[in-house]
Amino acid sequence: MPVIDSAEFAVSRAQLSGRIAVSELPRLAEVVLDGTTELDWELQGGVDKLERPWLYLSVNGKVQLACQRCLQAMDFKLDCETVLTLFADEATLDEAEQADDDLEGLVIDPALDVLALVEEEVLLALPFAPRHDRCGESDVVVVSDKPNPFAVLAQLKTRKAE
Ligand SMILES: [Zn+2]
Repeated sequence: MPVIDSAEFAVSRAQLSGRIAVSELPRLAEVVLDGTTELDWELQGGVDKLERPWLYLSVNGKVQLACQRCLQAMDFKLDCETVLTLFADEATLDEAEQADDDLEGLVIDPALDVLALVEEEVLLALPFAPRHDRCGESDVVVVSDKPNPFAVLAQLKTRKAE
């Protein structure tokens, strides 16, 4: 299991990539139908204009999810990428996230579990309630980016109001 010092990884502009079976990621295995499915991931480090270290993570693969309407399998093409800006502590992270809506941050971790990060990002990228466009017909839903967490939150609020 790859573990990195996230700040050092970023500053040294390191790169790491690998392939992981869904069955090795327990929380993801609960929502993906076929545990033997493999996902390709890639992690890169860098430093931005403000001298802040960042991690770029991309995960690709095709998973099968259960349609929330007919409960049959549906293919979901996973193609998520994210840039996580690293901060020394929660307080500076919160401050930066409040100042910049688009910013996604992570607290620096000297022993960051890369696969746990991969799993987290994939879970965020999966649709909240996957559905076939038309049940009974096979189709592939393509998502190029993960849903905006605020949009997801708004969706949850709407659901409650219904
Ligand atoms: Zn369906």
